[in-house]
Amino acid sequence: DRQQHIRNFSIVAHIDHGKSTLADRILEMTDTISEREMQAQVLDDMDLERERGITIKLNAVELHYTAKNGETYIFHLIDTPGHVDFSYEVSRSLAACEGALLVVDAAQGVEAQTLANVYLALDDDLEIIPVINKIDLPSAQPDVVKEEIEEMIGLDASDAILASAKSGIGIEEILERIVTDVPAPSGDLDAPLKALIFDSVYDSYRGVVLNVRIVDGTVKVGDEIELMSNGKKFEVTEVGVMSPKAVKRDMLMVGDVGYITAAIKTIQDTHVGDTVTSAAHPAEEALEGYRKITPMVYSGLFPVDNAKFNDLREALERLQLNDAALEFEPETSQALGFGFRCGFLGLLHMDVVQERLEREFNLDLIMTAPSVDYEVDLTDGTQITIDNPSEMPEASAVKDIREPFVKASIMVPNDYVGAVMEIAQRKRGEFVTMDYLDKYRVNVIYNLPLSEIIYDFFDDLKSSTKGYASLDYEVTGYRSSDLVKMDILLNGDAVDALSSIVHKDFAFERGKAIVARLKETIPRQQFEVPIQAAIGNKIIARSTVKAYRKNVLAKCYGGDVTRKRKLLEKQKAGKKRMKAVGSVEVPQEAFMSLLDMN
Ligand code: GDP
Ligand code: MG
Repeated sequence: DRQQHIRNFSIVAHIDHGKSTLADRILEMTDTISEREMQAQVLDDMDLERERGITIKLNAVELHYTAKNGETYIFHLIDTPGHVDFSYEVSRSLAACEGALLVVDAAQGVEAQTLANVYLALDDDLEIIPVINKIDLPSAQPDVVKEEIEEMIGLDASDAILASAKSGIGIEEILERIVTDVPAPSGDLDAPLKALIFDSVYDSYRGVVLNVRIVDGTVKVGDEIELMSNGKKFEVTEVGVMSPKAVKRDMLMVGDVGYITAAIKTIQDTHVGDTVTSAAHPAEEALEGYRKITPMVYSGLFPVDNAKFNDLREALERLQLNDAALEFEPETSQALGFGFRCGFLGLLHMDVVQERLEREFNLDLIMTAPSVDYEVDLTDGTQITIDNPSEMPEASAVKDIREPFVKASIMVPNDYVGAVMEIAQRKRGEFVTMDYLDKYRVNVIYNLPLSEIIYDFFDDLKSSTKGYASLDYEVTGYRSSDLVKMDILLNGDAVDALSSIVHKDFAFERGKAIVARLKETIPRQQFEVPIQAAIGNKIIARSTVKAYRKNVLAKCYGGDVTRKRKLLEKQKAGKKRMKAVGSVEVPQEAFMSLLDMN
């Protein structure tokens, strides 16, 4: 029957090892997509994903494959992101599958993120099929990689598939192995409906579109469904699958991965991880759902134009619909007005959200430098948590400040171990251990403050290892540190959005660096602008932006008109991201100058 012919699988890999390319080949081989429609990496449908070459949102497509045994199978392929910021999305997509292709680059071997993702798959008891990709490369070492898979992951790699997603080698073998190795879904067709929401998007026309895996039962147009977390009921208006465009179906049944629309207009009603059931015959228990994930990095987002506050709120609500990790709450800044304090999984996540808000919702935003959250013991015996440096109480009221620490695994070729250790020490790292993985590579483990990682750690790491290092980390807890709040004063007034929390030993150095950066980024104004860094009442660094003497245009007085216009356009573009802070015009870059603190 139909259920016996369904295979739900996902592709897990380290970033750049070839997931998206392999997904493309699979779509071609199964005629899900014609060559004419084929554009590289069809699953990565956000512009942002294509440009950056990374997969951010998980995507599910249905395809049909006629196997060598003559029978036709229904495959649901769920693509997953490979970046450490998004392992939460990976665990969500895995929960909708029975199997996973583990793609490893034949030249790069097993990397940190491969391990993290494959452990997620093993935790979910998925059948794992190892695929060694890029065997077309002259530097490919499939045998070494096989050994690595066995040693580092403990998976039998003797029958690993040798493939080249680029030149189409091994693709048919992969499809056959999915048929033979991945189990059919085990749910009960006759039981009450139970569907897991693993993603959702808002469509202004149809309302919320729920992406679901049907675990038990069936659902069709006209059925009344109920969301088990809040008891809300809706009538189903459409069901279908993505193939890869939306294709309507009469019904979805046990084992299917598809979408449901039910004229759900309030975004707040739907939660990823919730269970959809039948209102007439509700299931007794909801599915396990997902573990709640907590943001690691916080930053303030403010519309340049204060009148856009409500637009920003709406945009954040929409993004949150399919980005369960995004958190936000209203924040007021003296300097920047009304905005939101947002929580992100990491810096890439923060970047992606900012870019999506600007592109998809056409908002001009000022974003303040990212911060972690701190546990603070006050002298009056109470304890508070703050994620906004400007809220740090005066030093005299603080007994102890604790910051999040991570255990970071950095995988590098032998030659770069020294460089890695140098960076980690400079970032207040505490060496834990070092493992030789094989003749060439070492896994270096450090305890590091998360705040140091979220700044430029990864960039530094990449640039001093020619891009070879890979980083994976997990938060291990909070530790007391000698931290102080540093204020920045412009024209004598403290600017709340520029406050930061720094380690005492680095305060002086960082104060100087920030002041110097601000001097470069704040344009000259009609008057002199003093810039100062202060800890409490003590000024630790200062500088001045001189008043301008001449109009920019004076330089090309009588000169050609196009040049004048170009200059004016530049000024205008720059102005868009300027915010008047007191009497001083401050550009967006200035708020980020807290980041470049080396
Ligand atoms: P993802 O990050 O895992 O989704 O990786 P992509 O599919 O985006 O591939 C990363 C890069 O590797 C791209 O430049 C691909 O063209 C390239 N690539 C993928 N598969 C192969 C392959 O089999 N051989 C070679 N030589 N390059 C490949
Ligand atoms: Mg990809």
